[in-house]
Amino acid sequence: MARKVFIDQDECIGCGVCEEMCPEVFHLDIGTGKAEVVQEEGGPEDQIQEAVENCPVECIHWEG
Ligand code: SF4
Repeated sequence: MARKVFIDQDECIGCGVCEEMCPEVFHLDIGTGKAEVVQEEGGPEDQIQEAVENCPVECIHWEG
């Protein structure tokens, strides 16, 4: 089973790094100014991991 990823919306500062690293999975919502997960699982894990590691406030997490 593919691992799922989620964003802690309270911590997100809307920098856009995650979308830059993996646009298939992350999308910056212009309205809220926060990133959201548009594809919970099945995305490219190496790119997701890169986003997890590069998020400046470390608010992207793997579930479980
Ligand atoms: Fe939010 Fe982190 Fe994505 Fe920046 S990298 S938009 S802080 S989730």
